[in-house]
Amino acid sequence: MTSLATNARATDGTAELDAVIIGAGFSGMYQLHTLRDRLGLSVQVLEAGEGVGGTWYWNRYPGARCDSESHSYCFSFSQELLNDWEWSERYPAQPEIIRYLNFVADRLDLRRDVKFGTRVVAADYDESRNRWDVTTEAGERFSAKYLITAVGCLSTTNVPKFEGLESFAGEWYHTGAWPHEGVDFTGKRVIQIGTGSTGIQAVPVIAETAAHLTVMQRTPQFSVPARNTPLTDEFRRWVKEHYPEIHEVMRGTTNGHSFRIMERNAFDVDDDERMAIYEAAWEKGGLQFRANFKDMLTSKAANDTAAEFIKHKIRQIVKDPATAEKLANIDHPYAAKRPPIDTNYFDTYNRDNVSLVDVRADPIAAITPTGIRLQSGAEHAADIIVFATGFDAMTGSLLRLGITGRDGLTLAKAWEAGPRNYLGLQVAGFPNLFTITGPGSPSVLCNMPVAIEQHVEWITDCIAHLRGHEIERIEARDEASDEWVQQVNEAARATLLPEAHSSWYLGANVPGKPRVFMPYAGGMARYRAICDEVAARDYEGFELN
Ligand code: NAP
Repeated sequence: MTSLATNARATDGTAELDAVIIGAGFSGMYQLHTLRDRLGLSVQVLEAGEGVGGTWYWNRYPGARCDSESHSYCFSFSQELLNDWEWSERYPAQPEIIRYLNFVADRLDLRRDVKFGTRVVAADYDESRNRWDVTTEAGERFSAKYLITAVGCLSTTNVPKFEGLESFAGEWYHTGAWPHEGVDFTGKRVIQIGTGSTGIQAVPVIAETAAHLTVMQRTPQFSVPARNTPLTDEFRRWVKEHYPEIHEVMRGTTNGHSFRIMERNAFDVDDDERMAIYEAAWEKGGLQFRANFKDMLTSKAANDTAAEFIKHKIRQIVKDPATAEKLANIDHPYAAKRPPIDTNYFDTYNRDNVSLVDVRADPIAAITPTGIRLQSGAEHAADIIVFATGFDAMTGSLLRLGITGRDGLTLAKAWEAGPRNYLGLQVAGFPNLFTITGPGSPSVLCNMPVAIEQHVEWITDCIAHLRGHEIERIEARDEASDEWVQQVNEAARATLLPEAHSSWYLGANVPGKPRVFMPYAGGMARYRAICDEVAARDYEGFELN
């Protein structure tokens, strides 16, 4: 089997490669490293941004910080990278993560094979040549045997189509496409729409300098304090001495974090002990709150105990009873929507310059030259509007690549009724296309670097297998895809996750999007075992030829 050691160019100017990777975030960077430096393939990464970082390149909004703890939010495959990087805080802020990813890019010499400022607009599979032809917005063309999407799950911003946005005389920004030079809120009247993980991080920071911040909330959210803090030298030393144990926990748990989910159920303990457990977890802070009881996401009664505890905290913290009620009036199970963690979020509503508007009760009717008008006719003035309105999650970034597989089948057509694939990795009708952290894989239900490393390594081993056995093509089988979709649905149904009807996990935040629970909820450890088993059985469920 021949490999194109260096990028060849066809006479029409098309760059001929072994693999094209779309995206240079965590996943694209690692995939480039494994295919180029372990397998010796010629690889080109195409990246729309002007630097590495993916989601962290774009999401520079005030307060942007990771909810995974820093020592678990990094690559684990290289001891050298682990040894030579020091995190400064319990949760890394966006600038520190970007510094980290640039450090990785330098160490692994990745940038020479990344073309920045390059947006892919089409990728067509040519069966006769068994190649993917990739076209960019600027009209450049690349041809490769393998096409790997590394576009992230939350990369396509969702700006709701409010009437009148173009008439707004002030400035407006989406948090997921934040200006690099930042936004000065000093003395400004700001409206923020959205109270998901992003909005909850941004509110306290914007409130510090804005003249007034009006938060427009549609769905109230549970949030637990993050309790961010600088890391001590002692903790950093402990982490460096215990990587094998830390990584064993991360790879062995349902959600890829560095803490274990407790073995007990919520009603294994009495009410007093349960309250003491929740109090201690509230003080400790972080996503670990949901790991207190193993039935938190499977038993409504268990979940209610956590939900009531958090609602009580909200009512205690927020002094104005009407505001507290709007914030605590949460109608989904705790953690059934992705649970945010925060720094002073609820307390910020005690400031004189912050107000909360319930836009579920009184929806946004239009954006006007001076602000936002609600259906009741109430007007709210603004100099700046911040859209913390989330993303066309999981499928949006894949669909906008313009992918067309065999016989002219577009991905948009194949996924008309929602994403259908095998293991979240491959789509029937799209040979040699791999989707890192695609829908149908644990992805967003897992600490992302753990999910990414597992996918990248599986794809790398798979491509090595194909090359070692002179196999030209791998493609998901139809029956295997149907069975997998069923397994994804069953895994979700075994939890309380689908009960959050407004969740982006279900596509509910984007009008017209099919309502399908997209990530695989069976847990990272189980998923890893399934993928390993499939590979060991000679890629069962895939057609190899
Ligand atoms: P999100 O969770 O989808 O939240 C968007 C918010 O905007 C929701 O409150 C939503 O209300 C609201 N909204 C959307 N359309 C609206 C409309 N037409 N009118 C009024 N309100 C509207 O998005 P996100 O906060 O950007 O977070 C997305 C995901 O990114 C998170 O769940 C998390 O996985 C990830 N994230 C991670 C971190 C981290 O690790 N630190 C930080 C930020 C984000 P509804 O709920 O009613 O739709």
